[in-house]
Amino acid sequence: MNIADARVFIWNHADQSQRPAEHWVHGSGDVKGSGCDEGESYCYECCVKKVAQIIDAHPEASELAGICVDGGCDNESDHPAYCSSCGVQLSCTLTDEGSDSELEALLGDAKPSLEDQYGWRAMQDAIEMITDDDLRWPAIIAVIELAQRLPVLFGSDQ
Ligand SMILES: [Zn+2]
Repeated sequence: MNIADARVFIWNHADQSQRPAEHWVHGSGDVKGSGCDEGESYCYECCVKKVAQIIDAHPEASELAGICVDGGCDNESDHPAYCSSCGVQLSCTLTDEGSDSELEALLGDAKPSLEDQYGWRAMQDAIEMITDDDLRWPAIIAVIELAQRLPVLFGSDQ
């Protein structure tokens, strides 16, 4: 298997559903006891609820200057982003560091099985920015070939 085939395999086995955009509560770091800061990520629905919660909990309007829903565009992140309220995975592009640590996990303890479409999606996200001369391709291809062989290795008692 060459690198082009590996990219196609990963794409074909990965979940391709659209993920909700990442949002955060703008200005929440300035509100005492808001229970979140701008580093917390939310899906749009949960972010709207969080803003309403903070406003309800703070009758003093002056404390709330600038509180609003922010985000909605694709962000760069060091790790996959999840909504802090409902846990749904959010859309984001991994930084180099993020992609390195994801790839390390996917080539180590978190190798995807053939049917693991979320694992292959994580792989797809992790390899998005790596080039064909990356030294990890042989390891990535080995993980793909392992996944392809596993049904054979474990399929004898079907
Ligand atoms: Zn949510």
